[in-house]
Amino acid sequence: MDLFEYQAKDLFAAHGVPVLPGRVASSVVEAEAAAAELGGTVVVKAQVKTGGRGKAGGVKLAATPAEAAEKAGAILGMDIKGHAVARVLVTAASEIVEEYYFSFLLDRTSRTFLAMASVEGGVDIEEVAASKPEALAKVPVDPLEGVDAAKAREIVVAAGFPAEVTDAAAAAVVALWDAFVGEDATLVEVNPLVRDGAGAVIALDGKMTLDSNAAFRHPEHAELADTGAADPLEAKARARDLNYVKLDGQVGVIGNGAGLVMSTLDVVAYAGERHGGVTPANFLDIGGGANAQVMADGLDVILGDPDVVAVFVNVFGGITACDQVATGIVQALELLGDAAGKPLVVRLDGNNVAEGRAILAAAAHPLVTMADTMDGGADTAARLAAKGA
Ligand code: GDP
Ligand code: MN
Repeated sequence: MDLFEYQAKDLFAAHGVPVLPGRVASSVVEAEAAAAELGGTVVVKAQVKTGGRGKAGGVKLAATPAEAAEKAGAILGMDIKGHAVARVLVTAASEIVEEYYFSFLLDRTSRTFLAMASVEGGVDIEEVAASKPEALAKVPVDPLEGVDAAKAREIVVAAGFPAEVTDAAAAAVVALWDAFVGEDATLVEVNPLVRDGAGAVIALDGKMTLDSNAAFRHPEHAELADTGAADPLEAKARARDLNYVKLDGQVGVIGNGAGLVMSTLDVVAYAGERHGGVTPANFLDIGGGANAQVMADGLDVILGDPDVVAVFVNVFGGITACDQVATGIVQALELLGDAAGKPLVVRLDGNNVAEGRAILAAAAHPLVTMADTMDGGADTAARLAAKGA
């Protein structure tokens, strides 16, 4: 989960990383009050989960509360690379003497943690990496040893930070490592990390990605989720514990087991090429215990997607046998009633397949077509989707 700058900086502060005080505002009035409370010159910053806000006009200085209100008015509602600005961070302004870059990340290619640091901060770090790779120090970090003062010093010296900021920068780096490990992050990035007029080193920007696999260790992270931005269908699926991802196509897909669903997406996309280019509308894995309620929940989410024209249910009976799945489908269609207004192609195979097919045949639901094979089912579903689209 990616965090907003203000959330990342809150976590930074909790681990002792130097940041400046700030307030989040979602209206011009709130922004003005925040600026008055902070006093002095402030910076009004768009809170969106993308970089380059400065270039896009989403970061503005304001000398007075009235000016902060005016700047917030210009920034709120702005579109930055497809992200609508719903909130701004109003934060104390800093006198910038130098801008540095710093990050800790999980480097999956070299299977280690990596510290990256540069004295060329405040600009797009990808550009620095491409045009001046020698200006970006990359130092592997052993997860068992971590980052103490000596290691932090090694990193900032490798990046060529000036001698007079080495101590302050190293202290900030140790605190950032503490935040990285303590919050189970896969990325912390500070660009710019600045030296101010008094020689202090401060994180002026903050980016953080939390490892969702470690969410169980951090119940307090749940409130950081940006529920407003999530796709409504994905939010509905999550509320029902379904493993669902919305895609762009017209053929709804339900299967049991992530591998089977992934291959079903491929087969549907392939079949779609013969039928006007229709593609899968979603990924949905209902897992091993596909009872009637889970099937009804899954169908409900998929049929609620206005883009879906036809649905392909592809189930391989294992622990949950095909007859249970078939019963689940029949009951789900009963539960949904008129809400189930789209054709369903069902392919069952595996444990108790004959019983399962017999149950569907006996139910003779007008929306259900049975398919013998995965390829055949995908083809039928794609054809129905193309016809109805
Ligand atoms: P980004 O463009 O999305 O990465 O947003 P940043 O938070 O990095 O801000 C962009 C730029 O605005 C920074 O590189 C700074 O040059 C400038 N900036 C941000 N905060 C301040 C501040 O407190 N004082 C001054 N003078 N400039 C700031
Ligand atoms: Mn930045």
